Amino acid sequence: MITIKSDREIELLSIAGHIVYETHQYLKKYIKPGITTLELDRLAEEFIKSKNATPSFKGYDGFPKSICTSVNEEVVHGIPSNYKLKDGDIISIDIGACYKGYHGDSAWSYAVGNISDDKKYLLKHTEEALFKGLNEVKPGNRIGDISYAIENYALEHGLGVVKELVGHGVGTNVHEDPDVPNFGDKGTGPRIKKGMVLAIEPMLNLGSPNIVMLDDNWTIETEDYSPSAHFEHTVAVTDDGYKILTGSDA
Ligand code: MG
Ligand code: MG
Repeated sequence: MITIKSDREIELLSIAGHIVYETHQYLKKYIKPGITTLELDRLAEEFIKSKNATPSFKGYDGFPKSICTSVNEEVVHGIPSNYKLKDGDIISIDIGACYKGYHGDSAWSYAVGNISDDKKYLLKHTEEALFKGLNEVKPGNRIGDISYAIENYALEHGLGVVKELVGHGVGTNVHEDPDVPNFGDKGTGPRIKKGMVLAIEPMLNLGSPNIVMLDDNWTIETEDYSPSAHFEHTVAVTDDGYKILTGSDA
């Protein structure tokens, strides 16, 4: 069921979203060669708790840590570990925070030190694909308009679109209806209405779109080991467009 949020609920979602944004800004300073993903997890958890919020992903379906850290060929749901970031890595960090029962959800991919031109290309165009999708978020459009815009942009740039994982509604649950796939046809899917809160999140690969799950039952990797990037914002649908809840202006 797709729910329409009241102004009061959007206010709380916006506070949760802003905590997620601030956590990303705080972590960014630490993303350097030598730090472990477990240290990033600890920093994020302490920061989120200092804002009177809780990490949305800790314990979610049994996920063992507070954030997801997915390095290079890892697409999403990487579990923080003793892996030390190296110069030339890229890392996708997915952060969720829950404030007074309402969630914010945002992922961003970062360069560690100096990265290859291929990886720069992947990051630049995956971020841009997110904004192509966001451009379609307005009352009257359909979810498929977002999906099509992301897929079309990705394919134009020769990137593989991960299809098994999708964007979603956000509210008192971090994952709610509707699904927001990163592929599909214009003019299809549920109609977008003011008061919906959506997480839009392209996951794009430098190579094949195919993915595999590792033995830890969480980490998703590209089948061909090509690098993967992930950019996500939670947004509220307004009268004539959207407001980013996980950005600096929330
Ligand atoms: Mg999400
Ligand atoms: Mg996320």
